Amino acid sequence: MGRRLLWALVWLVTPFSALSAGLTVLSPPPRTTVAAGQRFDVQAEAENTAGLFWEVTLDGQPLAGEVKGNRFVAKALSVEKPGTHVLEFRLLQKLGKKGQTQVVASARQEFEAKAWPQGGGRVRHVILFVGDGFGFAHRTAARAFLYGFEGGKSRGFLAMDTLPVQSAMVTASLSGFVTDSAAGAHAFATGTKTANGMMGVFPDTTEDDADNPTVETLPCLLFRTRGVVSGLVSTADLTDATPAAFVAHVADRGEASRIARQFLEEAEPCGVRVLLGGGKKTFSSPDLLPFFAAQGFSQVFSASELETTLQARPRKLLGLFADRHMNSPFDIQKRGDASVVGGYPDQPSLSAMTRAALQVLQENPAGFFLMVEGALIDKQAHMLDAERMLWEVYNLDQALKVALEFAEKTNSDGDPTNDTLVILTADHETGGLVLPGVTDPSRMGTRDQVGTYDRMGFPEAADANGDGYPDNPDPEKKLVLHFGGAPDHFDDFRSQPRPVAPAKAGDDRKVHANPEKDGQTGVLYTGVSEVTVPEHGYAPDRGVHTGVDVPLLALGPGSERLTGVRDNTEIFFAILQALAPKP
Ligand SMILES: [Zn+2]
Repeated sequence: MGRRLLWALVWLVTPFSALSAGLTVLSPPPRTTVAAGQRFDVQAEAENTAGLFWEVTLDGQPLAGEVKGNRFVAKALSVEKPGTHVLEFRLLQKLGKKGQTQVVASARQEFEAKAWPQGGGRVRHVILFVGDGFGFAHRTAARAFLYGFEGGKSRGFLAMDTLPVQSAMVTASLSGFVTDSAAGAHAFATGTKTANGMMGVFPDTTEDDADNPTVETLPCLLFRTRGVVSGLVSTADLTDATPAAFVAHVADRGEASRIARQFLEEAEPCGVRVLLGGGKKTFSSPDLLPFFAAQGFSQVFSASELETTLQARPRKLLGLFADRHMNSPFDIQKRGDASVVGGYPDQPSLSAMTRAALQVLQENPAGFFLMVEGALIDKQAHMLDAERMLWEVYNLDQALKVALEFAEKTNSDGDPTNDTLVILTADHETGGLVLPGVTDPSRMGTRDQVGTYDRMGFPEAADANGDGYPDNPDPEKKLVLHFGGAPDHFDDFRSQPRPVAPAKAGDDRKVHANPEKDGQTGVLYTGVSEVTVPEHGYAPDRGVHTGVDVPLLALGPGSERLTGVRDNTEIFFAILQALAPKP
């Protein structure tokens, strides 16, 4: 509600030349590009339509629609012709009895349709990795922390470092410079922009969160037009923003049970065959699991069940490995307090889930789209928890290796129609991570604990057993991961046995550094985020998302469309345009 009002305000004061008196919100929003054939709703709202009637045209031809209160709505429009299209909205008033009319208000909105040749490419498999909150500094930190340096050269490189396309992506949403995960994933999933907090829909000003104009998502478009099936894998609760945006249509990302129901309703029409991640509680209260079973989904709740069930070659797979979000591998590997994983000690790695998804999806002759999210990079960066965050970067990198092995086979077998496009990117950066130096063991607990320049040298790092995770999370000379997009917080740059909130709101309705995190051993760092707890909404007691560009990495045919700096909506079109002819 607060978000909706704020949004309406932003919309009204933004000087879009397309708007004129009386007509307020137009969908699709300004500068929208859709794919040829992709379905989307057209909507216009007026302040007061009493005694008026609508006349709406698309490229000069009348567009049929419904009038709902003060809104004009045309559902599931699609255009095949590429190029610019023009929507014109007019509100008219009858004059006298002779049928004469007068235009009271009018507005014009252009949108683009982009062709996807459906035959120009070689790709039948698309694997999109999303490191939620994953920025360039997160990658540098993960590499330096795992491999260290010798002679000034990195002793090794991550799998993601080897991808041939190494570019950057702009992440802003329709409502602001800094996006949230809902609007970020919406861009990948639909090729369009929406407001923060929303997915699969465009903003409007009505009270009802269920009536927003919608836009078709990638899995649904691919299955409807080409029989391509999809899988969604995440370490978050599957109703969390990134996986949900590929299927759900909600104006409020917080509506977890509505999103879970939409997964159930959309799985069949959108060809979703694999769902692996957290959210057992969300999917079982109310209990949707019997309904998934009725649709033919094999269900698993632990890493060992996943392995056993895979031997039976399931056609559809639903795996829920934690009540809500899964744990960081840091905790699954018992690097901290063993009780952190609670009732779910046997959670699969992201690579095990990726391997499982590939096994199920590759059975489909028309190909597949697989999204794999390393969600805890963001969630742990919000907590300013460097180790749990880094361990998720390694989790993501291991999963990428599985995809690269798969791509290596399909892309070198001489069949020009079965190739694999692998993309790794992020929805936004979280935490404003900077890497200013290395801890100085002799000065810990003082303001000089971070050695910079000449007092730095190199961080200690080792992975003796080669499992892709650092042997020691707390070496003496440790890489400093400092969060600039943060509230006031204490830090000693050592790992926490249990996750601890970096800050909390006091009775004075101000946010303060939480002394339970490094209050005795660390140093107080003053943060940049606001300190006043708002009337409604969240206390600013966590690290924040930032607007810096994020890595955009790719391999395979079609990856050449992702060179240079790209907008986040371009991922969607690059995927469509890479596809081989329908088998
Ligand atoms: Zn976040």
